[in-house]
Parts: sequence; C-alpha cells; structure tokens
Amino acid sequence: MTRLDDLVAAGVVAEQVPLGPLTTYKFGGPARWFAVLGDAGAVERTVEAALADTVPYMVLGRGSNVVVSDSGFAGLVIQLGGDLAEMSVDAAGVVNAGGAMPLPRLARACAKQGRGGLEFLVAVPGSVGGAIRMNAGCHGSETGEWLLRIETYRPGRGVITVQRAEMEMSYRHNSLPPEDIVLGAHFRTVARPPEESEAIMRAITQWRRESQPGGTLNAGSVFKNPEGTSAGWLVDSLGLKGMQIGGARVSPRHANFFEAGPEASAQDVYNLVCEVRRRVASATGVVLEPEIRFVGEFAGGGAADWREPLGSGEEKTSRREIDHVGEDEQR
Ligand SMILES: Cc1cc2nc3c(=O)[nH]c(=O)nc-3n(C[C@H](O)[C@H](O)[C@H](O)COP(=O)(O)OP(=O)(O)OC[C@H]3O[C@@H](n4cnc5c(N)ncnc54)[C@H](O)[C@@H]3O)c2cc1C
Repeated sequence: MTRLDDLVAAGVVAEQVPLGPLTTYKFGGPARWFAVLGDAGAVERTVEAALADTVPYMVLGRGSNVVVSDSGFAGLVIQLGGDLAEMSVDAAGVVNAGGAMPLPRLARACAKQGRGGLEFLVAVPGSVGGAIRMNAGCHGSETGEWLLRIETYRPGRGVITVQRAEMEMSYRHNSLPPEDIVLGAHFRTVARPPEESEAIMRAITQWRRESQPGGTLNAGSVFKNPEGTSAGWLVDSLGLKGMQIGGARVSPRHANFFEAGPEASAQDVYNLVCEVRRRVASATGVVLEPEIRFVGEFAGGGAADWREPLGSGEEKTSRREIDHVGEDEQR
C-alpha cells in the first residue's frame, strides 16, 4: 500500500508548504503535507495514502472562504489543478467544469459562448468545487439552482456521480460528506446574447465596487445571515464598523467583511469573530454563525465547532451545520 512518504519521495506530495499565499487572507502557517493533483487517479492514490497513515486531509480551492491558523494544518492539503481547472460547453448548453475552475473565468467563458445564468459567479473569487461545497450565491442566485450533477471522489467508493437531487443544498450549505472531493460539475445554462451577459456582469462588479471593501484582504462575508435579517446590519447597528483587534478590523465599508492589515494574524481574525459574535449575542440575542471556515488550531474556547470538517478516520472534527434560509441581501 502506498504511504505518504512514498508520495513525498516520488515528488507528488510536498512537505511544510505555506498556505497563506493560497488564500485571500494571505496569512496562516504551512500544510504538513501538500499536493496539487490534476486527475481523479492521483486524487484517489493520494487520499488512500493519507488514510493509510491516518492523516486528516482537506481540499483547498482558491482559499477565498477560509482562515488558516497561524500554526498551519497538521495534515494533508490537496489542491486540484491541471485538467480539473478547465471547462467546456456542450451542444445542449450544459457546462462541464473541473472542480478547480475559477468562478469568474467560468462566468465569463459561458457569456462569451452565449450561455447565461452563471453571471452571478463573476465576482465570487472561488473555485467550482468551493462553490458547490458552500452553495455559493449572490444577487438572487445560488450554485445549487444551476447545478445538474457532480463527479466527486469519495473514499471507499472511488469517483461517483451525484445528481443535484441527491444533495441537500440550502443557504451556504451542502449535505455532501466532508470527505468528498468534488472533481467536476455540470451546470445547465440558458441561451443569452453575450452582450446581455456582459451587461449583467458589469452591473454586478460595479455594485461590488461600490458596496464592498475591494482591494483589502478578506474572505467575503464572515457570518451567515440569520433568518429574517442580515449579519452585516446587526454588526453595523452596534456601531462595530472599524472595530479592531490586532491587525484585523471590521470593514468600515461593510460590517460583515473583516479585513486583515499587513501585520494581521489568523488569530486576530479569530479573536475579532469571537468578540463581534459575543457582542451581537449579548445585545440582540442573535447568535451569529460563521460562514468562513477555520482551518487548524486557534487559541481561545468556544469556536472548535467552526473548524473545517475534515476527511480521514482518526481526527474528524465535530461540525456544525445550521441552515439559515434567509435572503443574502447584503451581497
Ligand atoms: C471578496 C470576496 C467576495 C465573496 N463573495 C461571495 C459571494 O458573493 N457569495 C458567496 O457565496 N461567497 C462569497 N465569497 C466566499 C467564497 O468566495 C465562496 O465561498 C467560494 O465558493 C469558496 O470557494 P473556494 O474555492 O475559494 O473555497 P475555499 O475557500 O478554498 O474552501 C471553502 C470550502 O470549500 C471546500 N472545497 C473547496 N474546493 C473543494 C472541492 N473541490 N471539493 C470539495 N470541497 C471543496 C474546502 O474544503 C472548504 O471547506 C467571497 C469571498 C471573497 C474573498
């Protein structure tokens, strides 16, 4: 049986790879093991090696929804690449996209080919796999609305096809098991002249420029919107815009974005999330749930449940999945 050491010796898996540059926050420590994998066979072999060594693993997309701990991740981090970052559109207008395909590129490529529907993804800086895991959405659309089926690697089962109807996808939630690695996805689209799609995407990017803290280090919305209200509104109503802990602050522009300054640590963001959450709960009784995912260990209690759910037998963290079905009107 192949072990991780064998894959390290073969140059497939690297050791102590800094994760910060692979995330939008740009901080965080190294992955103990790290691999970029371009096909299903490589994913299967590498995950099997991790399982044989009882090493936890996780897949990192474009790192736009994660806070990686300053001490890094003591397991295997897999990123998809190669052919899994490509897409095509078939004669019926079905988009076939690899799990590593960047969402803005997907939206623009569809538009160019006269296929509409996925324009809302133009300003979501994640990957197809991340969008499926998070059921990413904005501007009145969600990934799950357009998804037909996925190919996913599931330990013990290999690569399987899962139809959209077999997954429960609700607000920032997908019932897919945490150990799954989404390799590819098929989306329906609608026929739409390219200039119409371009206009939709222009309006979206313009709206973002005006209402969100572009050009800062962040991971998008920090908290899920509770039912019936928006997390940003709640945080703002307590006058917390601009509140700072260490190098992290609540964006003065949008209260549900937490920006990292050049000296910020992952722990600063974690502490800010905990403190804002505590203040909102104590003032309003609403307990906010983070949308961003914490990877690795953080000091201070109370938030272990927020940690990234992991693949692998030994060290599965507990996970908390709460569905809020409310509108995501802040985006
Ligand atoms: C400026 C900004 C704006 C944003 N706007 C929006 C928005 O409008 N709407 C919205 O919903 N989100 C938004 N986000 C958050 C983020 O972009 C989305 O959640 C996105 O879908 C995450 O994709 P990712 O590839 O970066 O995933 P990552 O951050 O790398 O990972 C997020 C989760 O997905 C899992 N994952 C990643 N790839 C795979 C895969 N192939 N298979 C299985 N699991 C996988 C990871 O393990 C992790 O649990 C924004 C973020 C930023 C920085």
